[in-house]
Amino acid sequence: MPPSLDSELRQALVDRLRYYQELGIYDFYRRDRHVSMLGTQPPEIDPSPRPQPEQREEMPVRKSAVAVVEEESMFEVLQPKPEQGIADPIAALKLIREDLGDCTRCKLYKQGRKQIVFGVGNPRAELMFVGEGPGADEDAQGEPFVGRAGQLLNNMIKAMGLHREDVYIANVVKCRPPGNRTPERDECETCSPFLMRQIAVIKPTVVVALGAVAAKNLLAINAPMAELRGRFYDFMPAGARSNDLSWQGAKLAVTYHPAFLLRDPRQKGEAWKDLQMVMKCLDLKPPAKSGM
Ligand code: SF4
Repeated sequence: MPPSLDSELRQALVDRLRYYQELGIYDFYRRDRHVSMLGTQPPEIDPSPRPQPEQREEMPVRKSAVAVVEEESMFEVLQPKPEQGIADPIAALKLIREDLGDCTRCKLYKQGRKQIVFGVGNPRAELMFVGEGPGADEDAQGEPFVGRAGQLLNNMIKAMGLHREDVYIANVVKCRPPGNRTPERDECETCSPFLMRQIAVIKPTVVVALGAVAAKNLLAINAPMAELRGRFYDFMPAGARSNDLSWQGAKLAVTYHPAFLLRDPRQKGEAWKDLQMVMKCLDLKPPAKSGM
């Protein structure tokens, strides 16, 4: 068996790196090049950003496909991204899409996806919606939220006084989970850095997480919907750096996934309350005849 980091240790290290990034620390250097990343103790991380590029972290020799995926997930956050320094969000999103390529980073690539569903909408959107993953219609058309749930999302957007083209829509995972199952933790962890980069490029004022899976992945907290909804969170995309230093992150609100609202329309009133909170924040006025 090839050596591999214990999953708890790996998660602790990822959490630590994210914590540093929330503090605005992005560059890391290792003091001893010979300290093994595959040992039983976490590596010592020096958070002070010193101009010594020759001492930048080097990936250990990769010995198995499993180790490659694990190590890439962990260090994705440390590597300079192609879109960094690109001010035009259209060009920057194109670079992220190119970087994603014909992605095989997680197992969803071989579980029946027809295509990658990257995201759609206004690259300069003030409002961004994030769902959990593509369904059958989205997989077929290559665009998020195009089926019945997408129609309801369109109605929600319209009720806010906006058009679908005004906002940006994406998912935590970009490939359809088989049978529309919930994406698994490793799939979300592998795919979500691309979503974080999209958010950092678009720099929305508000992100609305549609459903518990999106909320938990964006906020990295585990709580029921009843606790997640009804307030704004300060949100900075983990592991992604915006080119705009004046962007202080987005406000994040949580509401029900449109697919859930189709199953339980009685909750539409609650979802409308969430959207009204967002409208107030964005100073949006609903059209004369509004309704979801
Ligand atoms: S879900 Fe994301 S990480 Fe997994 S294969 Fe698709 S694009 Fe790649």
